[in-house]
Amino acid sequence: MYNTECVTVKLANPTKCKREWLEQTANTFSHIVQIGLNMAKQECLFSRVDIHNAVYHTARDFGLNAECARMSVNAAVSLTHMYYGLRKVQKRVSFPKVRSSQGIGLGVKAYKVVQSKSRFILFVSVSKNSPHLRFPLCVPNRYRYRMPLVYGDAKLFQRGHDWYVSLPIRIPQTPTVCDGEHTFIGVDLGIVKHATVSFPDKVLFFNGKPARQKREHFANLRRRYQKHHRLDRVRQRKGKETNWMTDLNHKISRQIVDLSTLYSNPVIVLEQLDGIRNHVHGSKKFNRMIASWAFRQLIDFINYKATRENIPVVFCDPRGTSKTCPKCGHSTRSNRPTQSQFRCVACGYQASADYVGACNITARGLYALVHGPSDMARPQGQTEEISLQPDGAQTGEQLPVYSNLVSS
Ligand SMILES: [Zn+2]
Repeated sequence: MYNTECVTVKLANPTKCKREWLEQTANTFSHIVQIGLNMAKQECLFSRVDIHNAVYHTARDFGLNAECARMSVNAAVSLTHMYYGLRKVQKRVSFPKVRSSQGIGLGVKAYKVVQSKSRFILFVSVSKNSPHLRFPLCVPNRYRYRMPLVYGDAKLFQRGHDWYVSLPIRIPQTPTVCDGEHTFIGVDLGIVKHATVSFPDKVLFFNGKPARQKREHFANLRRRYQKHHRLDRVRQRKGKETNWMTDLNHKISRQIVDLSTLYSNPVIVLEQLDGIRNHVHGSKKFNRMIASWAFRQLIDFINYKATRENIPVVFCDPRGTSKTCPKCGHSTRSNRPTQSQFRCVACGYQASADYVGACNITARGLYALVHGPSDMARPQGQTEEISLQPDGAQTGEQLPVYSNLVSS
């Protein structure tokens, strides 16, 4: 099984001659697609076969190679189908026209991406007897390892002065497990700090304030609209709030996963968050934030982005992570004199509370990976009061000390 996704990569400044070829081919391509659309409109063609028969040979006569001709037929077919689809649901639409941004369809056999030393080069076949055109690509570092997985129909297109190629990437779904030392990266989620990520050599904070303010802003608007019985406005706003939050979560998760790839054999440790709503008792405002917070989404995003990059993800029990001392394992509520501060009453260790949370999550991830996942069942009534020690103490084992995780 494969997952397919697209990456868009810029062509590194094509020469004048190649630029001319690109522009000319793009014009021809658009022209052919427009011919296909005109035929479909005039003769009420709908099926792929009919449109293919009407267009393919014209495309070949215009000098497109077989793969390009096939792609132009595909473009005409998909535009036609989209039009009839919209008509079916009774949208008022005019028959589509080719856009100037149509670009050039590259069939799977019409191109190849080859790595030569540190560069990636796109070879495009022009016709049967002429040599391939060679376009060096500007591949960002985060895409480099995906380049060998390019497979499928691609597309060349122009935006402004630059040319880009949109390449399909076929990713095998089975993640590979790597051996050797693991680097554990713990992610702690919270209200004040949206996310705190502990890397072996640094800590990354994502401030929760913008999200909090945005939530409050939308809640205020909602209240005002409801007062004036403008439910249509409420509905209209709902999507905006969700989109904003989704976008933020995408950015945060992308940054976390990208940074994780820089370490050797990274393992991301996340909190198992089911039932967070049952555990939190606070003010009305606080409860609304917890309930509507997109924690779940952030965790899902980190999970799928990490899986895509073959980074294993471990889930751990988050209970007590914010009040357990990462140095001596002492766990009590008194360890948190204020919301943001952590001070161990047993050993005197001090740090930011979010940082301590992330450290504890990292440590639990390591523990879970060595000893198998901990029992995630939550007995009713009995909550909290779980420290790093008990599991190890029961079996007579000593947990390793994660002093390297703790900055002095
Ligand atoms: Zn301590």
